[in-house]
Amino acid sequence: MAKPMSPETIAAQAGGLVDETTGSIIPPIQTATTYIRDPDNQYRRGYIYGRPDTPNVRHAESVLQQLEGAAACFLFGSGMAAATTAFLALERPAHVVAPEVMYWALKKWLADDARTLDIEATFVDATNPEAIKAAIQSGRTRMVWIETPANPMWGISDIVDIASLAHGAGAILGVDSTVATPVLTQPLALGADIVMHSATKYLNGHSDVLAGALAFARKDAVFDRAARMRSNLGAVLAPFEAYLLIRGMRTLHVRVRHASASALRLARHFAQDPRIVEVLYPGLQSDPGHAVAARQMQGGFSGMLSVRVKAGEAAAVRTAANVKIWKRATSLGGVESLIEHRASVEGPGTPCPPDLLRLSVGLEDPADLIADLEQALG
Ligand SMILES: *Cc1c(COP(=O)(O)O)cnc(C)c1O
Repeated sequence: MAKPMSPETIAAQAGGLVDETTGSIIPPIQTATTYIRDPDNQYRRGYIYGRPDTPNVRHAESVLQQLEGAAACFLFGSGMAAATTAFLALERPAHVVAPEVMYWALKKWLADDARTLDIEATFVDATNPEAIKAAIQSGRTRMVWIETPANPMWGISDIVDIASLAHGAGAILGVDSTVATPVLTQPLALGADIVMHSATKYLNGHSDVLAGALAFARKDAVFDRAARMRSNLGAVLAPFEAYLLIRGMRTLHVRVRHASASALRLARHFAQDPRIVEVLYPGLQSDPGHAVAARQMQGGFSGMLSVRVKAGEAAAVRTAANVKIWKRATSLGGVESLIEHRASVEGPGTPCPPDLLRLSVGLEDPADLIADLEQALG
């Protein structure tokens, strides 16, 4: 048998699909919401109705499933739809352990809304396996959730260690791998049970699609409930968005490697700058997460870093106001570099330091990005 295709080849060719009708090597966009029934009352082609299944969504799911080495993958209309589905698919009542520092909107949902749905979250320092161990309640905890690297300080959680802690207590491990992408980390191979992506970010990569994904290690009970929720709650992805996502994933590997190399260059540069107190980036040897990151990330440490401005919050906001090349906007993982005063976006209660600027490094020449930030720091 031939050697299995590498993920890079799978992504570049979008799984190698060729349209059977025309021979096109690019998938047609199938906008139909309904499909013809065979005269003998069967649906042999596998498509019935657009909510549960459309060819473009299935195609995108199959590419991501292969990149994550998953048993199955589902796409949703946003990352939040995917993440909340992972929690709602747990057997309830459910206790979950989640990071103190994580994607803010999901943390807010867990803290404020999930309780009314019989989901109780304990938030801990997820860069410390001892803290996770102490928070797990054997027999009651259904899932440990981590994000690595985690917004917006890029703390690293050890997937292998935490998977074994979770499994030892009868819980599963869910990983928000949005920032790592399957290029840099394969959480399922390291013991995770569910991988979640905001496909809005690196997977699509062009800041023009909202999408989310769950990839599953096994087709188990949680998978079955997530499958029913995807179909019945209807938070699905539309065909055109799935088409764009497939197009984005074709260049995933080159984009993520380039952004990671540029981010490392920026991190090293600004670590020497007296106007910066601290550069938060797991690629720096001085970073507390570096050793674990070096073990579980291959080929780079992502395109995301944060810098803390010595002169304080007002100076950080002013720096973001002064940039000319960086775009002052939220979100991440696109081809254009973004800068954000993160505490302003997260609002009251955020663990994000007020002097922190979050940087999403895109595909521009890193020398231009460095020069622009240099002049903006003033
Ligand atoms: C953006 C993001 C989400 C939420 O995804 P949406 O597509 O915006 O709904 C979740 N986790 C992380 C790490 C993100 O960056």
